[in-house]
Amino acid sequence: MTENGPADDCIFCAIVARRAPAWIVYEDAKCLAFLDLFPFTRGHLLVIPKRHVPRLTELPRSEYEEFFHALATVCRRADRLSPDYNVALNQGARAGQIVFHLHFHIIPRYGEPNPFHQSARNRLSDTDARALLRELGDG
Ligand code: AMP
Ligand code: ZN
Repeated sequence: MTENGPADDCIFCAIVARRAPAWIVYEDAKCLAFLDLFPFTRGHLLVIPKRHVPRLTELPRSEYEEFFHALATVCRRADRLSPDYNVALNQGARAGQIVFHLHFHIIPRYGEPNPFHQSARNRLSDTDARALLRELGDG
């Protein structure tokens, strides 16, 4: 793979190149959106930059605007199915990332249990909050 070229073994690059099939719902010069083949709910969509970038943190700043524009445009289309949807990014294997070509999920919700409400959560402690601010702050 060249730095800006498609990854040989990447299914989403194959979709961009039309070497693999997909139900494409949106396309512009830099981005593509298509139906997830194994949808959590009806209308589950994926929005990708055409360029192979494994993670959001590797997307050059110059490409933020076009990617966010495509994401927001496809979200407005998802509104046609339901005004309620999760916009999700799995970054890294332990976060559930399986395809290492950057993609946002748009998952319409129709009243099924909300996945963000499925496990009990403990209130953040002041001690941990202070430690986290040291780790995550400007430094
Ligand atoms: P992630 O777990 O965030 O990497 O999500 C990858 C998503 O890609 C999963 O929801 C898969 O169902 C979906 N997926 C994998 N292969 C394809 C494909 N060929 N066409 C459409 N969606 C796919
Ligand atoms: Zn790719």
